[in-house]
Amino acid sequence: MKFVSTRETGELKAGGSVKKEYSSQNVIMEGIAPDGGLFFPAEEVSFTPDEIKQLKNKTYAERAFFIISRYLTDYKQSELISAAKAAYSEEKFPLSPARVNKVGDEYFLELYHGPTSAFKDVALQLMPRLLSSAIQNSRSQKDALILVATSGDTGKAALEGFAGVERTKILVFYPEDGVSEIQKKQMLTQKGGNVGVFAVKGNFDDCQTGVKAIFADPAARRHAEERGYFLSSANSINFGRLVPQVVYYFSAISDLDLKDGELCDIVVPTGNFGNILAAYMAKRAGAPIRKLVCASNKNNVLTDFFNTGFYNKKRSFYKTSSPSMDILVSSNLERLLYLIAGPGQTLKYMSELGEKGYFSVSDEVKKALDGCFSAYYAEESDCFAAIRETFENTGYLIDTHTAAAVFAAGEYKKSSPDGVKTLIVSTASPFKFAPAVCRALGLSCGEGFFAVDRLAEYTRTAPPAALSALRGEKNRFYKSLSAGNMYGGVAEFINA
Ligand SMILES: *Cc1c(COP(=O)(O)O)cnc(C)c1O
Repeated sequence: MKFVSTRETGELKAGGSVKKEYSSQNVIMEGIAPDGGLFFPAEEVSFTPDEIKQLKNKTYAERAFFIISRYLTDYKQSELISAAKAAYSEEKFPLSPARVNKVGDEYFLELYHGPTSAFKDVALQLMPRLLSSAIQNSRSQKDALILVATSGDTGKAALEGFAGVERTKILVFYPEDGVSEIQKKQMLTQKGGNVGVFAVKGNFDDCQTGVKAIFADPAARRHAEERGYFLSSANSINFGRLVPQVVYYFSAISDLDLKDGELCDIVVPTGNFGNILAAYMAKRAGAPIRKLVCASNKNNVLTDFFNTGFYNKKRSFYKTSSPSMDILVSSNLERLLYLIAGPGQTLKYMSELGEKGYFSVSDEVKKALDGCFSAYYAEESDCFAAIRETFENTGYLIDTHTAAAVFAAGEYKKSSPDGVKTLIVSTASPFKFAPAVCRALGLSCGEGFFAVDRLAEYTRTAPPAALSALRGEKNRFYKSLSAGNMYGGVAEFINA
């Protein structure tokens, strides 16, 4: 399988195709295409109904190997098998990486039973191992130095994923006062000899701008290279994070026990559009999925886009209790446009978005999107009501992100009440966002671990073991940097 950039022009020049093609190992090492586009497979992948049926008797690691080996064809099978086994061991995911839990009439796909209690673990346990093999196979003399700016969830999941992985080091920058107490503790206690964490005096944007500036600074790159590193990132536009997410949709379908020809609907709480794009890739590859429901919070740029065909990032930004969905530019939407509108068109939409801040798709594209997607958004009060009502009616506890999906599922069913099975994607443990979940339940609780205790006591459920264990752990990282001197932190880390 070869990969291309979503920003290829699609035009043939005299003398034949000028499409630039990449191997999957290149794609995972480079992250983003040289023209600023995102990498995508050059050909469709598909699985037959028989192949999908055969997943039933496989372990999760075997399912993962079966699916990803179709996309990542230039890896040795043995590399993919050992990466999947190590990523999806019982030690990392005691309750399965993707448990389907039936609650009342709904099916929840719980993706938060990993080391950091949120769904990014499922991809970030596998991707670093794929990167490590790619580095080894490339005969590169240099190791990867991963730089991550985080508003909370991604940083910890990336630290856990890269900790101890050969040929890689990882540095995470978080805004000193911009993450929750639990998220901060999760990062500051991270174990591993190849990890580092810095607080930055500023907000998340300052962190992100600082990391981008380091990538764009030739002197910084040269300095890192002299020390034996190439700079790399682990963000959700890397194809290596997308492909592990396709796996859990096939896995869930297999666990739903659909009859021959039966389809299901899937509702996904969405931010950067990575998770729901993986569901769409599964659908295109043959998974029996009817509709994908895109659930947003008050930052409803995607709801507007799916309802009107007009994407406009120029709008107010809201900080909500589902912070991982507080996004105005959903990067992975570019891959959906590439699949539906094709090359050339995608380049045009992305240029308009860059220049004007908005773009409109053609009627034909809009119609194709309508055939696969529905979209709804939840106000804060809708999310809180969804948490409270779900708990009161069923005893099942959901987090603030999943709450947006539960609300969207309810709205969707009003328009389509036909008894088709609905799978709601559950992206975080409610305990990870305990203060907000307590408020939704009407409990007075305080912050941080006080809220975890209060929630556990009130709902008589145990918090994830890794979250409880944090309290007794010692912080390992203390330094904070000014936003202008983030490379100083990098230099200190690689000189040590
Ligand atoms: C990252 C995240 C999301 C959004 O996923 P995307 O792939 O960015 O759409 C939703 N919920 C939680 C808890 C997350 O951490």
